[in-house]
Amino acid sequence: MTDWPELDGFLATDPRDVGCEQALQILHVYVDMVLDLDPGLAARRYPGVAVHLAACGPCDDDFHGLLAAAGATS
Ligand SMILES: [Zn+2]
Repeated sequence: MTDWPELDGFLATDPRDVGCEQALQILHVYVDMVLDLDPGLAARRYPGVAVHLAACGPCDDDFHGLLAAAGATS
């Protein structure tokens, strides 16, 4: 622990994590890959996105929302 909470948060972040902005930019591609191929392949192709979705609640919600929407219309 330090007296700098932001630093603790930074150190706890997986270095592969692409962050919200990049994750959301590519999320539709990631969703397509999960739906058309398989989730394991998507996670290997875009490990930074997989790591981010596991770590970020709001982005994970968006991911599941897109999955549900895509599944409902296909
Ligand atoms: Zn995020």
